[in-house]
Amino acid sequence: PSQPIETKIDVLIIGAGPAGVMAADMFARYTAQGLTCRIIDKRSAKLDNGQADGLNCRTLEIFESLGFVESIEKEGSRMSEINFWNPCPETGRLVRTGKIPDTIPGLSRFQQTILHQGRIEAHLIADAAKHSNGAIIPERGVLPEALEIDESLLSDPSAYPIKVTLRHLSEEESNPDGLTQNGATRSGLFRSSLVSAEEEEKLYKKKEQAVKREIVSAKYVIGCDGAHSWTRRTLGIKMIGEQTSELRLGSTRRCPHHQLPDIRARCAIHSANAGSVMVIPQERDLVRLYIQLPVQVKPGEYLDRSKVTPESILATARAILHPYTLDTELIEWFTGYHIGQRLTESFTPNNRVFLAGDACHTHSPKAGQGMNTSMQDTFNLAWKIGHVVTGLAKPELLETYSLERQVVAKTLIDFDTKFSKLFSGKPASKDDLDEGVSLSEFKDVFATGNLFAAGMSISYAGNLIVARPDGTSSIKSRPELASKLAVGERFFSAQVVNVASATPDQLTTRMLTNGAFRILVFAGNVAEEKAMKKLEKLAEYLDGEESVVSKYTPKGRSRSSVIDVITIHSSDRLALELYDFPQPSIFPSNDPHTAYKKVYVDAPSYHRGDGKAYEAYGISKEEGAIVVVRPDQYVALITSLDDTATLDAYFSQFLVPAAQGSPAKDIRLLSPPDWSKVEK
Ligand code: FAD
Repeated sequence: PSQPIETKIDVLIIGAGPAGVMAADMFARYTAQGLTCRIIDKRSAKLDNGQADGLNCRTLEIFESLGFVESIEKEGSRMSEINFWNPCPETGRLVRTGKIPDTIPGLSRFQQTILHQGRIEAHLIADAAKHSNGAIIPERGVLPEALEIDESLLSDPSAYPIKVTLRHLSEEESNPDGLTQNGATRSGLFRSSLVSAEEEEKLYKKKEQAVKREIVSAKYVIGCDGAHSWTRRTLGIKMIGEQTSELRLGSTRRCPHHQLPDIRARCAIHSANAGSVMVIPQERDLVRLYIQLPVQVKPGEYLDRSKVTPESILATARAILHPYTLDTELIEWFTGYHIGQRLTESFTPNNRVFLAGDACHTHSPKAGQGMNTSMQDTFNLAWKIGHVVTGLAKPELLETYSLERQVVAKTLIDFDTKFSKLFSGKPASKDDLDEGVSLSEFKDVFATGNLFAAGMSISYAGNLIVARPDGTSSIKSRPELASKLAVGERFFSAQVVNVASATPDQLTTRMLTNGAFRILVFAGNVAEEKAMKKLEKLAEYLDGEESVVSKYTPKGRSRSSVIDVITIHSSDRLALELYDFPQPSIFPSNDPHTAYKKVYVDAPSYHRGDGKAYEAYGISKEEGAIVVVRPDQYVALITSLDDTATLDAYFSQFLVPAAQGSPAKDIRLLSPPDWSKVEK
């Protein structure tokens, strides 16, 4: 065989599923500062149907911050209600026993939306190509074969301590045949957990000679390679937990002939004796049914996949739904999988090679958390790596990834264990209420689980970048200054009015993901002299050479690129002119990135009412507050308007003064993207 070629890269992402492409999209935003990134996937075929499809509120908020939530909402199917169907205690006939909202009202501006995973990946891939000027596009048909870490280089941030040998596969090798098609129905079995890691591996190594081999030296590697993660196995990291012997089936079907009135809403249906089904209304008027197949598999064994057919799914669905009928002309996609709750013992052995997504946690798909949690893992990780690689932050920042996400994964596994058990259980009968699942218990878990499932219950503990009042760090927030915001939780949006244009807007639409921390200055009633004096004093600090903005922004980059200051006052909008605000930090007319989008007012708008932002955040108009929000929208610090010492102390923990970090790179003029390569 020919000699492998040798290449270098800052970040190598293994796997172009939801976790991988979210990471790619985030890194795309750092390519202008010189970060280089590649994303590889062993499969040559991108996902065109099936697998995950539920987008929770938090993921939709993230998509808003990435700038493409409108397209997702347009394409997807929004879920508004959950219906519970159970056997009537007297007759045993299926009856509707309750309805609750699918997303708790008021939780977020976005409600759970259904769109299949392949489309989500396509949006993220297109966005990554756009932001990297065509530099980051998944390379398909590339399989990693070996991973070596030079321990002696780990402490040097400029070193490339990881070597990954890649094998570029032929089309035949990278597209395992035989299992992808079943007449007009697409089978997802070949990607499913019914295929063991060893069996899957063999599928990709049919030929002895590699088409091409490459040795990539990388600073960082992220294993986003799914439940059978090669990266995890190569690192020798174990998954803890058991794969159960239960078997679930997901199928997506057109459903024109049926009698169930709730087919266009989410339903949890428990039959008396035939099992349970979850109905999920999908895009294009499709419906997905999650069904428990009446097949038992011993722990550790794999089911004979030939038993999982569209016909067996349909027959089970009909038995559960009886006396409602169900006929279909076409089942578009089906699959089967074992479920079990498993969690990796570590997310990273050295803060150089990381695991994310299904590579770290696997569970049932019922609560729709797999794709969401996987994307949220890399949304958390990628900006941290981006900051370190481009010289903005110290490598210690990377330690917060497993501190934060491992707890989320553990909570997910615990929630899923409870949820799955309740979903699979038989309903308690009239004669034996102690046995089986009580309907009220199921509904309660569903309702409380909603907060978790929406991605809204995440609360990061105190760490280097989360200055919680109860944290171990000496830097403490003053939560009473913004009593309805919680340090460690995601910053929620409220409507404010732009001072320059009088246009109302959600505050988060002004906080798009670009790697910047935000200092939100709630300046209070600045029409009063005392409050304006306070703001002027803060502005003097921010404009000074020793301020966090001046210290950490590399020369040549926009003043808002590392720490972006946004002021929200609460005076009468007409009492002040734009130029009454101190320049340049509060109103920088010379910053092309944020010109005229620096000062907002919490006031009524002409067309969209009054956002009442101060009230929503629990901030006093007399006292005001400073709220620091992380690049991934989590509240990092709450302090008073005059407490610049705490701002200094907070950022100095993890940011690198610009004079010591990598010199600022000019925005690279890359060649225009090759759009023919961008997957639609
Ligand atoms: P994955 O989506 O698994 O992506 C991993 C990627 O890595 C893949 O593209 C794969 O080709 C690639 N890869 C794997 N190994 C290698 C390697 N050695 N080298 C290079 N590339 C590699 N969740 C739900 O919420 N609802 C559902 O209905 C649902 N149904 C599912 C059905 C099936 C058949 C499967 C497999 C999963 C399903 N899930 C469902 C789970 C959901 O798809 C995952 O939680 C989610 O995709 C995890 O994203 P990920 O990026 O971590 O991993």
